[in-house]
Amino acid sequence: MIASTSSFAALGLSAAILRAIDDEDYDAPTPVQEQVVPKAIAGRDILAAAQTGTGKTAAFVLPILQHLSESPSDPRGARDIRALILTPTRELAAQIGERISAYGKYLKVGHTVVYGGVGQRPQEEALRRRPDILVATPGRLLDLMGQGFVKLRGITHFVLDEADRMLDMGFIHDVRKVIAVLPKERQTLLFSATIPADIERLAGSLLEEPVRVAITPKITTAEGVDQAVIFSETAEKRVLLERILRRPDVKRTIVFTRTKHGANRLTRDLERAGIASLAIHGNKSQNARDRALSSFKTGEIPVLVATDVAARGIDVDDVSHVVNFDVPNIPESYVHRIGRTGRAGAVGQAISLCAAEERPFLADIEKLIKKTIPSIDVDGNVLERPQARAIAAAPPPGRGGGGGRPGGGGGGGRSGGGGGSRPGGGGGRRPRYR
Ligand code: AMP
Repeated sequence: MIASTSSFAALGLSAAILRAIDDEDYDAPTPVQEQVVPKAIAGRDILAAAQTGTGKTAAFVLPILQHLSESPSDPRGARDIRALILTPTRELAAQIGERISAYGKYLKVGHTVVYGGVGQRPQEEALRRRPDILVATPGRLLDLMGQGFVKLRGITHFVLDEADRMLDMGFIHDVRKVIAVLPKERQTLLFSATIPADIERLAGSLLEEPVRVAITPKITTAEGVDQAVIFSETAEKRVLLERILRRPDVKRTIVFTRTKHGANRLTRDLERAGIASLAIHGNKSQNARDRALSSFKTGEIPVLVATDVAARGIDVDDVSHVVNFDVPNIPESYVHRIGRTGRAGAVGQAISLCAAEERPFLADIEKLIKKTIPSIDVDGNVLERPQARAIAAAPPPGRGGGGGRPGGGGGGGRSGGGGGSRPGGGGGRRPRYR
Protein backbone atom coordinates (compact mmCIF):
# COMPACT_ATOMS: atom_id res chain seq x y z
CA MET A 1 0.00 0.00 0.00
CA ILE A 2 1.52 3.26 -1.10
CA ALA A 3 0.36 6.16 1.00
CA SER A 4 0.71 9.72 -0.14
CA THR A 5 2.01 12.62 1.86
CA SER A 6 -1.30 14.41 2.35
CA SER A 7 -3.58 13.74 5.26
CA PHE A 8 -7.13 12.51 5.49
CA ALA A 9 -8.16 15.81 7.06
CA ALA A 10 -7.31 17.58 3.78
CA LEU A 11 -9.88 15.49 1.91
CA GLY A 12 -12.84 17.26 3.48
CA LEU A 13 -14.00 14.44 5.73
CA SER A 14 -15.99 15.07 8.90
CA ALA A 15 -14.52 14.77 12.39
CA ALA A 16 -16.46 11.57 13.13
CA ILE A 17 -15.09 9.88 10.02
CA LEU A 18 -11.56 11.12 10.69
CA ARG A 19 -11.77 9.65 14.16
CA ALA A 20 -12.79 6.27 12.78
CA ILE A 21 -9.92 6.39 10.26
CA ASP A 22 -7.58 7.25 13.08
CA ASP A 23 -8.73 4.10 14.87
CA GLU A 24 -7.71 2.14 11.77
CA ASP A 25 -4.16 3.49 12.08
CA TYR A 26 -3.95 4.62 8.48
CA ASP A 27 -1.18 7.18 8.15
CA ALA A 28 -2.30 8.86 4.98
CA PRO A 29 -4.79 8.42 2.17
CA THR A 30 -3.77 6.17 -0.70
CA PRO A 31 -3.65 7.70 -4.20
CA VAL A 32 -7.13 6.47 -5.12
CA GLN A 33 -8.55 7.90 -1.90
CA GLU A 34 -6.75 11.17 -2.42
CA GLN A 35 -8.10 11.53 -5.93
CA VAL A 36 -11.61 10.19 -5.49
CA VAL A 37 -12.75 11.34 -2.05
CA PRO A 38 -12.79 15.16 -2.53
CA LYS A 39 -14.43 14.89 -5.96
CA ALA A 40 -17.03 12.44 -4.72
CA ILE A 41 -17.75 14.62 -1.69
CA ALA A 42 -18.29 17.45 -4.18
CA GLY A 43 -20.93 15.28 -5.81
CA ARG A 44 -19.13 14.27 -9.00
CA ASP A 45 -19.60 10.95 -10.76
CA ILE A 46 -16.41 8.89 -10.80
CA LEU A 47 -14.87 6.40 -13.21
CA ALA A 48 -11.94 4.84 -11.40
CA ALA A 49 -9.48 2.26 -12.66
CA ALA A 50 -8.29 0.77 -9.40
CA GLN A 51 -8.11 -2.74 -8.09
CA THR A 52 -8.35 -4.45 -4.76
CA GLY A 53 -5.47 -3.52 -2.53
CA THR A 54 -5.32 0.13 -3.57
CA GLY A 55 -7.68 1.25 -0.81
CA LYS A 56 -10.55 1.70 -3.26
CA THR A 57 -13.23 0.57 -0.82
CA ALA A 58 -12.61 3.54 1.43
CA ALA A 59 -12.54 5.76 -1.67
CA PHE A 60 -16.22 5.07 -2.28
CA VAL A 61 -17.40 4.31 1.24
CA LEU A 62 -16.06 7.49 2.88
CA PRO A 63 -17.84 10.04 0.65
CA ILE A 64 -21.10 8.08 0.89
CA LEU A 65 -20.90 7.97 4.67
CA GLN A 66 -20.16 11.66 4.70
CA HIS A 67 -23.15 12.54 2.49
CA LEU A 68 -25.61 10.27 4.24
CA SER A 69 -24.58 11.39 7.71
CA GLU A 70 -24.96 15.01 6.66
CA SER A 71 -28.48 14.52 5.38
CA PRO A 72 -30.21 12.19 7.79
CA SER A 73 -33.27 10.57 6.32
CA ASP A 74 -36.67 11.64 7.58
CA PRO A 75 -36.99 10.05 11.03
CA ARG A 76 -40.80 9.96 10.79
CA GLY A 77 -41.40 8.89 7.26
CA ALA A 78 -40.83 5.83 5.13
CA ARG A 79 -37.08 5.40 5.00
CA ASP A 80 -35.69 4.02 1.82
CA ILE A 81 -32.27 2.64 1.05
CA ARG A 82 -30.21 5.60 -0.05
CA ALA A 83 -26.98 4.05 -1.25
CA LEU A 84 -26.54 0.84 -3.21
CA ILE A 85 -23.15 -0.81 -3.62
CA LEU A 86 -23.11 -3.66 -6.14
CA THR A 87 -20.15 -6.01 -6.05
CA PRO A 88 -19.58 -9.37 -7.76
CA THR A 89 -18.79 -11.76 -4.92
CA ARG A 90 -19.94 -12.60 -1.44
CA GLU A 91 -16.45 -12.13 -0.04
CA LEU A 92 -16.19 -8.65 -1.46
CA ALA A 93 -19.68 -7.79 -0.26
CA ALA A 94 -18.85 -8.96 3.25
CA GLN A 95 -15.60 -7.02 3.25
CA ILE A 96 -17.27 -3.82 2.09
CA GLY A 97 -19.80 -4.32 4.90
CA GLU A 98 -16.94 -4.64 7.38
CA ARG A 99 -15.32 -1.46 6.08
CA ILE A 100 -18.60 0.47 6.38
CA SER A 101 -18.88 -0.67 9.99
CA ALA A 102 -15.31 0.46 10.66
CA TYR A 103 -15.41 3.83 8.91
CA GLY A 104 -18.95 4.58 10.05
CA LYS A 105 -18.61 3.52 13.67
CA TYR A 106 -19.19 7.04 15.02
CA LEU A 107 -22.08 7.76 12.65
CA LYS A 108 -25.72 6.81 12.63
CA VAL A 109 -25.75 5.36 9.16
CA GLY A 110 -27.12 1.84 8.97
CA HIS A 111 -26.11 -0.73 6.42
CA THR A 112 -26.75 -4.33 5.51
CA VAL A 113 -25.15 -6.83 3.19
CA VAL A 114 -27.01 -9.33 1.01
CA TYR A 115 -25.56 -12.10 -1.15
CA GLY A 116 -26.53 -15.49 -2.47
CA GLY A 117 -25.55 -18.94 -1.28
CA VAL A 118 -26.91 -18.40 2.22
CA GLY A 119 -30.43 -18.32 3.64
CA GLN A 120 -32.48 -15.30 2.69
CA ARG A 121 -34.46 -14.91 5.92
CA PRO A 122 -31.91 -13.02 8.01
CA GLN A 123 -31.36 -10.70 5.05
CA GLU A 124 -35.11 -10.01 4.83
CA GLU A 125 -35.11 -9.19 8.53
CA ALA A 126 -32.15 -6.85 8.16
CA LEU A 127 -33.87 -5.09 5.25
CA ARG A 128 -36.97 -4.52 7.36
CA ARG A 129 -34.80 -2.43 9.67
CA ARG A 130 -34.43 0.02 6.78
CA PRO A 131 -30.68 0.35 6.28
CA ASP A 132 -29.32 3.50 4.64
CA ILE A 133 -26.73 1.55 2.67
CA LEU A 134 -27.22 -1.78 0.95
CA VAL A 135 -24.23 -3.81 -0.21
CA ALA A 136 -25.34 -6.56 -2.58
CA THR A 137 -24.34 -9.09 -5.17
CA PRO A 138 -26.57 -8.77 -8.25
CA GLY A 139 -28.40 -12.12 -8.21
CA ARG A 140 -29.59 -12.01 -4.62
CA LEU A 141 -30.50 -8.35 -4.96
CA LEU A 142 -32.76 -9.12 -7.94
CA ASP A 143 -34.39 -11.97 -6.00
CA LEU A 144 -35.09 -9.70 -3.06
CA MET A 145 -36.34 -6.93 -5.34
CA GLY A 146 -38.63 -9.39 -7.11
CA GLN A 147 -40.14 -10.39 -3.79
CA GLY A 148 -40.67 -6.80 -2.72
CA PHE A 149 -38.06 -6.72 0.04
CA VAL A 150 -35.96 -4.05 -1.62
CA LYS A 151 -37.09 -0.76 -3.15
CA LEU A 152 -34.53 1.33 -4.94
CA ARG A 153 -36.60 4.46 -5.54
CA GLY A 154 -34.75 6.38 -2.80
CA ILE A 155 -31.26 5.72 -4.12
CA THR A 156 -29.08 8.81 -4.24
CA HIS A 157 -25.73 7.00 -4.40
CA PHE A 158 -24.85 4.04 -6.56
CA VAL A 159 -21.52 2.21 -6.66
CA LEU A 160 -20.64 -0.42 -9.20
CA ASP A 161 -17.59 -2.16 -7.76
CA GLU A 162 -15.22 -4.42 -9.72
CA ALA A 163 -17.21 -3.76 -12.88
CA ASP A 164 -14.84 -5.68 -15.15
CA ARG A 165 -15.14 -8.74 -13.01
CA MET A 166 -18.89 -8.36 -12.92
CA LEU A 167 -18.88 -8.57 -16.71
CA ASP A 168 -16.43 -11.48 -16.72
CA MET A 169 -18.69 -13.40 -14.39
CA GLY A 170 -21.63 -12.90 -16.73
CA PHE A 171 -23.56 -10.50 -14.48
CA ILE A 172 -24.09 -7.77 -17.03
CA HIS A 173 -27.79 -8.53 -17.57
CA ASP A 174 -28.47 -8.57 -13.86
CA VAL A 175 -26.56 -5.33 -13.45
CA ARG A 176 -28.53 -3.69 -16.23
CA LYS A 177 -31.82 -4.80 -14.66
CA VAL A 178 -30.81 -3.14 -11.41
CA ILE A 179 -29.65 0.03 -13.13
CA ALA A 180 -32.93 0.26 -15.01
CA VAL A 181 -34.88 0.86 -11.80
CA LEU A 182 -32.50 3.34 -10.19
CA PRO A 183 -33.61 6.97 -9.99
CA LYS A 184 -31.93 9.06 -12.68
CA GLU A 185 -30.98 11.75 -10.16
CA ARG A 186 -28.14 10.14 -8.33
CA GLN A 187 -24.40 10.04 -7.92
CA THR A 188 -22.66 7.08 -9.51
CA LEU A 189 -19.19 5.76 -8.78
CA LEU A 190 -17.81 3.04 -11.03
CA PHE A 191 -14.73 1.10 -9.98
CA SER A 192 -13.00 -1.41 -12.18
CA ALA A 193 -9.52 -2.95 -12.13
CA THR A 194 -9.29 -2.36 -15.88
CA ILE A 195 -11.38 -0.25 -18.24
CA PRO A 196 -11.79 -2.24 -21.47
CA ALA A 197 -14.18 -1.11 -24.19
CA ASP A 198 -17.27 -2.78 -22.72
CA ILE A 199 -16.74 -1.06 -19.37
CA GLU A 200 -16.18 2.22 -21.17
CA ARG A 201 -19.56 1.74 -22.90
CA LEU A 202 -21.28 0.86 -19.65
CA ALA A 203 -19.71 3.93 -18.04
CA GLY A 204 -20.99 6.07 -20.91
CA SER A 205 -24.55 5.01 -20.18
CA LEU A 206 -24.24 5.27 -16.40
CA LEU A 207 -22.13 8.28 -15.54
CA GLU A 208 -22.50 11.98 -16.13
CA GLU A 209 -19.34 13.87 -16.88
CA PRO A 210 -17.34 11.61 -14.61
CA VAL A 211 -14.02 12.46 -13.05
CA ARG A 212 -11.64 9.84 -14.37
CA VAL A 213 -9.08 8.39 -12.06
CA ALA A 214 -6.53 5.77 -13.02
CA ILE A 215 -4.46 4.21 -10.33
CA THR A 216 -1.47 2.37 -11.65
CA PRO A 217 -2.23 -1.18 -10.70
CA LYS A 218 -0.32 -3.24 -8.21
CA ILE A 219 2.25 -3.91 -10.87
CA THR A 220 4.05 -0.89 -9.51
CA THR A 221 2.53 -0.79 -6.04
CA ALA A 222 3.47 -4.34 -4.99
CA GLU A 223 6.87 -3.04 -3.97
CA GLY A 224 6.56 -4.80 -0.67
CA VAL A 225 6.43 -8.14 -2.48
CA ASP A 226 9.65 -9.98 -3.05
CA GLN A 227 9.07 -12.13 -6.12
CA ALA A 228 10.88 -15.32 -7.04
CA VAL A 229 10.46 -18.32 -9.26
CA ILE A 230 11.56 -21.91 -8.74
CA PHE A 231 11.92 -23.87 -11.95
CA SER A 232 10.89 -27.46 -11.45
CA GLU A 233 9.27 -30.51 -12.94
CA THR A 234 5.52 -30.67 -12.45
CA ALA A 235 5.93 -33.88 -10.46
CA GLU A 236 8.36 -32.20 -8.04
CA LYS A 237 6.08 -29.33 -7.18
CA ARG A 238 4.35 -30.97 -4.26
CA VAL A 239 7.57 -31.79 -2.46
CA LEU A 240 8.91 -28.31 -3.14
CA LEU A 241 5.75 -26.77 -1.75
CA GLU A 242 6.00 -28.83 1.40
CA ARG A 243 9.60 -27.73 1.89
CA ILE A 244 8.65 -24.10 1.41
CA LEU A 245 5.76 -24.37 3.84
CA ARG A 246 8.04 -25.87 6.48
CA ARG A 247 10.48 -22.95 6.34
CA PRO A 248 10.38 -21.03 9.63
CA ASP A 249 9.88 -17.66 7.92
CA VAL A 250 6.82 -18.99 6.11
CA LYS A 251 4.04 -18.20 8.52
CA ARG A 252 0.81 -17.54 6.69
CA THR A 253 0.58 -18.62 3.10
CA ILE A 254 -1.94 -18.58 0.29
CA VAL A 255 -1.22 -21.27 -2.29
CA PHE A 256 -2.83 -20.74 -5.68
CA THR A 257 -3.90 -23.47 -8.02
CA ARG A 258 -5.45 -23.03 -11.42
CA THR A 259 -8.39 -25.35 -10.80
CA LYS A 260 -10.80 -26.18 -8.00
CA HIS A 261 -9.95 -29.82 -8.42
CA GLY A 262 -6.26 -29.01 -8.07
CA ALA A 263 -6.98 -27.07 -4.89
CA ASN A 264 -8.86 -29.99 -3.34
CA ARG A 265 -6.17 -32.47 -4.30
CA LEU A 266 -3.45 -30.28 -2.90
CA THR A 267 -5.13 -29.84 0.50
CA ARG A 268 -5.45 -33.62 0.73
CA ASP A 269 -1.78 -34.06 -0.14
CA LEU A 270 -0.73 -31.46 2.38
CA GLU A 271 -2.83 -33.10 5.03
CA ARG A 272 -1.05 -36.37 4.36
CA ALA A 273 2.23 -34.53 4.77
CA GLY A 274 1.03 -33.21 8.14
CA ILE A 275 0.50 -29.60 7.00
CA ALA A 276 -2.88 -28.15 7.93
CA SER A 277 -4.60 -26.30 5.09
CA LEU A 278 -8.06 -25.53 3.79
CA ALA A 279 -9.27 -24.95 0.26
CA ILE A 280 -11.38 -22.02 -0.81
CA HIS A 281 -13.05 -22.00 -4.21
CA GLY A 282 -16.35 -21.53 -5.96
CA ASN A 283 -17.62 -25.08 -5.43
CA LYS A 284 -17.44 -24.82 -1.68
CA SER A 285 -20.54 -23.81 0.24
CA GLN A 286 -20.65 -20.34 1.66
CA ASN A 287 -20.30 -21.78 5.14
CA ALA A 288 -17.24 -23.79 4.21
CA ARG A 289 -15.67 -20.71 2.61
CA ASP A 290 -16.41 -18.53 5.62
CA ARG A 291 -15.00 -21.16 7.94
CA ALA A 292 -11.84 -21.58 5.89
CA LEU A 293 -11.32 -17.85 5.71
CA SER A 294 -11.86 -17.23 9.39
CA SER A 295 -9.56 -20.07 10.48
CA PHE A 296 -6.96 -18.62 8.16
CA LYS A 297 -7.50 -15.11 9.51
CA THR A 298 -7.16 -16.23 13.11
CA GLY A 299 -4.02 -18.19 12.28
CA GLU A 300 -5.55 -21.52 13.24
CA ILE A 301 -4.81 -22.79 9.72
CA PRO A 302 -1.52 -21.48 8.30
CA VAL A 303 -2.20 -22.39 4.67
CA LEU A 304 -5.11 -21.47 2.43
CA VAL A 305 -5.30 -23.14 -0.96
CA ALA A 306 -7.25 -20.97 -3.35
CA THR A 307 -8.29 -20.48 -6.94
CA ASP A 308 -8.20 -17.06 -8.55
CA VAL A 309 -11.90 -16.31 -8.37
CA ALA A 310 -12.21 -17.27 -4.72
CA ALA A 311 -9.13 -15.35 -3.69
CA ARG A 312 -9.56 -12.04 -5.39
CA GLY A 313 -11.65 -10.58 -2.64
CA ILE A 314 -9.66 -12.01 0.22
CA ASP A 315 -8.29 -9.31 2.44
CA VAL A 316 -6.12 -10.80 5.14
CA ASP A 317 -3.26 -8.88 6.66
CA ASP A 318 0.08 -10.48 7.37
CA VAL A 319 0.07 -13.05 4.60
CA SER A 320 3.79 -13.76 4.62
CA HIS A 321 3.86 -15.82 1.43
CA VAL A 322 1.97 -16.43 -1.76
CA VAL A 323 2.93 -19.60 -3.60
CA ASN A 324 1.80 -20.07 -7.17
CA PHE A 325 1.57 -23.82 -7.39
CA ASP A 326 0.53 -23.24 -10.99
CA VAL A 327 1.76 -20.24 -12.92
CA PRO A 328 -1.40 -18.42 -14.00
CA ASN A 329 -2.02 -18.30 -17.73
CA ILE A 330 -3.50 -14.79 -17.44
CA PRO A 331 -0.72 -12.39 -16.47
CA GLU A 332 -3.10 -10.05 -14.63
CA SER A 333 -4.05 -12.94 -12.34
CA TYR A 334 -0.44 -13.13 -11.25
CA VAL A 335 -0.56 -9.51 -10.19
CA HIS A 336 -3.80 -10.09 -8.29
CA ARG A 337 -2.38 -13.17 -6.63
CA ILE A 338 0.85 -11.66 -5.39
CA GLY A 339 -1.09 -8.64 -4.16
CA ARG A 340 -2.49 -10.89 -1.40
CA THR A 341 0.84 -10.54 0.36
CA GLY A 342 2.85 -7.41 1.14
CA ARG A 343 -0.34 -5.57 2.03
CA ALA A 344 -0.57 -2.40 4.03
CA GLY A 345 3.15 -1.76 3.90
CA ALA A 346 4.21 -5.22 5.10
CA VAL A 347 6.85 -7.22 3.28
CA GLY A 348 5.81 -10.49 1.69
CA GLN A 349 7.24 -13.04 -0.67
CA ALA A 350 5.63 -14.52 -3.75
CA ILE A 351 7.13 -17.76 -5.05
CA SER A 352 6.03 -19.28 -8.33
CA LEU A 353 6.67 -22.93 -9.11
CA CYS A 354 7.21 -23.02 -12.83
CA ALA A 355 7.29 -26.17 -14.95
CA ALA A 356 8.73 -26.19 -18.46
CA GLU A 357 5.32 -25.94 -20.10
CA GLU A 358 4.51 -22.88 -18.00
CA ARG A 359 7.50 -20.88 -19.23
CA PRO A 360 5.43 -19.00 -21.81
CA PHE A 361 3.01 -17.92 -19.06
CA LEU A 362 5.96 -16.67 -17.03
CA ALA A 363 7.23 -14.76 -20.06
CA ASP A 364 3.84 -13.03 -20.37
CA ILE A 365 3.91 -12.12 -16.70
CA GLU A 366 7.40 -10.70 -16.90
CA LYS A 367 6.36 -8.65 -19.88
CA LEU A 368 3.40 -7.23 -17.98
CA ILE A 369 5.34 -6.41 -14.82
CA LYS A 370 8.32 -5.27 -16.89
CA LYS A 371 10.90 -7.21 -14.97
CA THR A 372 12.59 -10.56 -14.77
CA ILE A 373 11.60 -12.55 -11.72
CA PRO A 374 14.72 -13.95 -10.04
CA SER A 375 15.12 -17.70 -9.94
CA ILE A 376 15.79 -19.27 -6.55
CA ASP A 377 16.20 -22.73 -5.13
CA VAL A 378 13.86 -24.10 -2.51
CA ASP A 379 15.98 -22.65 0.30
CA GLY A 380 15.77 -19.19 -1.17
CA ASN A 381 19.26 -19.00 -2.74
CA VAL A 382 19.28 -16.95 -5.92
CA LEU A 383 20.29 -18.97 -8.97
CA GLU A 384 21.29 -18.27 -12.52
CA ARG A 385 18.23 -18.64 -14.66
CA PRO A 386 18.21 -21.76 -16.79
CA GLN A 387 18.40 -21.00 -20.49
CA ALA A 388 14.97 -19.60 -20.95
CA ARG A 389 14.77 -20.16 -24.67
CA ALA A 390 15.71 -23.79 -24.59
CA ILE A 391 13.07 -24.58 -22.03
CA ALA A 392 10.40 -22.30 -23.43
CA ALA A 393 10.84 -23.85 -26.85
CA ALA A 394 10.30 -27.36 -25.52
CA PRO A 395 7.00 -28.80 -26.68
CA PRO A 396 4.40 -28.29 -23.94
CA PRO A 397 3.64 -31.77 -22.66
CA GLY A 398 -0.02 -32.65 -22.40
CA ARG A 399 -1.18 -29.45 -24.00
CA GLY A 400 -1.89 -30.41 -27.55
CA GLY A 401 -2.27 -27.50 -29.97
CA GLY A 402 -1.64 -24.81 -27.37
CA GLY A 403 -5.29 -24.81 -26.31
CA GLY A 404 -4.27 -24.00 -22.76
CA ARG A 405 -3.43 -20.43 -23.60
CA PRO A 406 -5.62 -17.53 -24.42
CA GLY A 407 -5.45 -16.36 -27.99
CA GLY A 408 -3.85 -13.05 -28.87
CA GLY A 409 -7.07 -11.22 -28.00
CA GLY A 410 -7.47 -12.72 -24.53
CA GLY A 411 -6.12 -11.39 -21.25
CA GLY A 412 -6.70 -7.77 -22.11
CA GLY A 413 -4.72 -7.98 -25.33
CA ARG A 414 -1.45 -7.75 -23.48
CA SER A 415 -0.31 -11.27 -23.99
CA GLY A 416 0.58 -11.19 -27.66
CA GLY A 417 4.08 -11.07 -29.10
CA GLY A 418 7.42 -12.05 -27.60
CA GLY A 419 9.23 -15.35 -27.89
CA GLY A 420 7.57 -16.68 -30.99
CA SER A 421 7.61 -20.15 -29.50
CA ARG A 422 3.93 -20.31 -28.78
CA PRO A 423 0.67 -20.10 -30.57
CA GLY A 424 -0.63 -16.61 -31.28
CA GLY A 425 -4.18 -15.41 -31.95
CA GLY A 426 -5.66 -18.87 -32.66
CA GLY A 427 -7.55 -20.40 -29.73
CA GLY A 428 -10.94 -19.37 -28.46
CA ARG A 429 -11.21 -16.85 -25.68
CA ARG A 430 -11.01 -18.47 -22.29
CA PRO A 431 -12.84 -17.12 -19.31
CA ARG A 432 -10.47 -14.82 -17.46
CA TYR A 433 -11.21 -16.24 -14.07
CA ARG A 434 -12.22 -19.70 -13.10
P1 AMP B 1 -9.09 -2.26 -0.70
O1 AMP B 1 -8.27 -1.88 -1.90
O2 AMP B 1 -10.22 -1.34 -0.51
O3 AMP B 1 -9.48 -3.69 -0.76
O4 AMP B 1 -8.18 -2.06 0.61
C1 AMP B 1 -7.08 -2.86 0.87
C2 AMP B 1 -6.60 -2.79 2.30
O5 AMP B 1 -5.99 -1.54 2.56
C3 AMP B 1 -7.68 -2.93 3.36
O6 AMP B 1 -7.18 -3.83 4.32
C4 AMP B 1 -7.81 -1.58 3.97
O7 AMP B 1 -8.17 -1.66 5.32
C5 AMP B 1 -6.43 -1.01 3.80
N1 AMP B 1 -6.39 0.45 3.65
C6 AMP B 1 -7.31 1.24 3.05
N2 AMP B 1 -6.93 2.51 3.08
C7 AMP B 1 -5.72 2.56 3.70
C8 AMP B 1 -4.81 3.61 4.03
N3 AMP B 1 -5.06 4.86 3.68
N4 AMP B 1 -3.68 3.27 4.68
C9 AMP B 1 -3.41 1.98 5.02
N5 AMP B 1 -4.23 0.94 4.74
C10 AMP B 1 -5.37 1.23 4.08
